[in-house]
Amino acid sequence: MSKDYYEILGVGRDASQDEIRRAFRRLAKEYHPDRNPDDPSAEAKFKEINEAYEVLSDPQKRSNYDAYGNPDGPFGGAGGGPFTGGGPFTGRDFGDFGFPFGDIFGSFEEMFTGGASRRAATGPVRGRDLEVSVEITLEEAFSGVDKDIKVTRVESCDRCNGTGAEPGASVVTCPTCKGAGQVRSTVNTVLGSMTTVKTCPRCGGTGKTVERPCSECRGSGETTKARTVTVTIPPGADSGLHLRLAGQGGAGRRGGPPGDLYVAVFVKPHPVFERQGDDLVLDRTISFPLAALGGTIPIPALEGDVELTVPAGTQPGAVLRLRGKGMPRLRYRSRGDLLVRVNVRVPTRLSAEERELIVKLSRSQDETIGDNRSFFQRLRDAAGGNRDG
Ligand SMILES: [Zn+2]
Ligand SMILES: [Zn+2]
Repeated sequence: MSKDYYEILGVGRDASQDEIRRAFRRLAKEYHPDRNPDDPSAEAKFKEINEAYEVLSDPQKRSNYDAYGNPDGPFGGAGGGPFTGGGPFTGRDFGDFGFPFGDIFGSFEEMFTGGASRRAATGPVRGRDLEVSVEITLEEAFSGVDKDIKVTRVESCDRCNGTGAEPGASVVTCPTCKGAGQVRSTVNTVLGSMTTVKTCPRCGGTGKTVERPCSECRGSGETTKARTVTVTIPPGADSGLHLRLAGQGGAGRRGGPPGDLYVAVFVKPHPVFERQGDDLVLDRTISFPLAALGGTIPIPALEGDVELTVPAGTQPGAVLRLRGKGMPRLRYRSRGDLLVRVNVRVPTRLSAEERELIVKLSRSQDETIGDNRSFFQRLRDAAGGNRDG
């Protein structure tokens, strides 16, 4: 096998789907071409990461890959156009799949080529699903936003319309198999020489090929393009939201439909608001008189200032709730709450007048205010404290 997808994602072979997803997100972010405009190797790496994730995140493909080193199963094609030898067995022989005697199984291959696997390899194939991530601010999550995202995907070649043939080139009988669609080969194995029949690697079994492959895609019928796709992120989006853009993934093969594009949303932490689901939490320090007497103050919510009523006797650490002033609930008309965590400011510098007022207040409380002990009393207390300690 040419690439170790586990190694690419830096995960163990027994990694859970969750671990694979996390590794993918981290790497995809790191190597995103947008973030590495000066590093041409980042894009290749990014594609490689996507490819690895595409296989390992799909249980069927992963188990094929684990068993055969090929996500499409033992006879899965490497792909390619219909005329270019991109057939199901191109560039592969049994040795790749770990069969020690290769073609010793003789009709083994024909067994498959005549069966369902053969049809699957030449019939329409749906394009790949792709996943990209997009980062938005809390304000954008609040109001909803349209984001342009760059997607690198496989598309049908414009020049040849995906046929792989140079426009105007005529279709001719495949010179390798002379139109038979199959080739015979004799191989020497430890058990003697064996003759087998294989699907022609050049024409993929169609018996036809083109004079000249398309000069744009070199006959594959596909090109990789970086596209900008606009995704509408709904109000109330939170990290972990996945949006599906149907048909915006990779192009299908042989007339198959395109795959889908999944957009994973990340909401950046906000400097002021802490998000708890649909609720927003805000810390606010209020004055001691306001806490004691109650009143109203303006609070900066995401939609602008809203009025918060502070009840008389509010304690430090109290949480005051502004109903319906939090985040919009995704797919609902309602909204979460805005929670204001109250801190009470104790004045540090007092004017003579303020001090007098507080002293007056303190007389109504059964407390000793300030240190009114004499110098000698303090000495005695300190000495007593030492003896006890
Ligand atoms: Zn082409
Ligand atoms: Zn052929």
